Amino acid sequence: MKANKALGQNFLIDKNIINKIISSTTDNPNKTIIEVGPGMGALTKELVKNKDKQIVAVEIDDELYEYLQKEIKDENLKLVSGNILDFNTSDLSENKKYSVVANLPYYISSKIIFKFLEDDNCDSMTIMLQKELVDRITSTRNKKLYGRLTVAIQSFYETKRVTNVPPTCFKPRPKVDSAVVRLERMDNSGIENKALYLDFIKQCFAKKRKTLRNNLKLVYSEDQVSNNLLKIFGENWEMVRGESVSISEFKKLFTLFSK
Ligand code: SAM
Repeated sequence: MKANKALGQNFLIDKNIINKIISSTTDNPNKTIIEVGPGMGALTKELVKNKDKQIVAVEIDDELYEYLQKEIKDENLKLVSGNILDFNTSDLSENKKYSVVANLPYYISSKIIFKFLEDDNCDSMTIMLQKELVDRITSTRNKKLYGRLTVAIQSFYETKRVTNVPPTCFKPRPKVDSAVVRLERMDNSGIENKALYLDFIKQCFAKKRKTLRNNLKLVYSEDQVSNNLLKIFGENWEMVRGESVSISEFKKLFTLFSK
């Protein structure tokens, strides 16, 4: 079967990496696991061996969907044909928690992460991404890669790099290095309205080199900006940039700007 580059098809062929992804996914107590893009079933075939789990695998490519229907017949697999971005997770199982596993198609990996991030029932993800994205997701404050993606994800999830993955582990080989990251949802993020919070974070990093003050005054009044920044950062409030602000400071700021 010919890989479709436009659909980000780089199939995993390394047993060791497959095993690492599977054990990171299945050691979670959730019964339901959503697999994004099962492809030719490299992960799916291992996942279905866990008979106490229900696997829901969503594949956009009709040819691969038909191939998998013939190839994997285990009763604990539900194959869905379609785009994961249109998949309604509330149909899954009366509001139950689930995990996500994927060797993600890189062309829409951020959109897929944000889809699940906004759903409280998604309480863990083990996902393969471009290494550069995993470097961003797991970065720490005052580091070059600490930015909007880091803060958005670490505000809701504990992050842990499972392993780095070289191009030789795939067929065809991608041009970039990859890595697997595990995201574990915090019990209580302290954020009620995730969509508004994520917009706020986007605004804080609107222009990377600008100070928080300059980014925020584009949408809030001068008074609001100076009062709120002063409360959190003290006399240096005018100089603060997003990359030096901790996750808990972002959450406190958001609460102040939401009043
Ligand atoms: N899981 C397989 C593996 O590890 O070998 C395939 C991974 S491949 C990187 C990405 C898979 O996602 C492909 O099978 C591709 O067709 C599928 N895909 C791409 N875009 C998708 C979308 N929007 N919704 C669901 N599946 C998608």
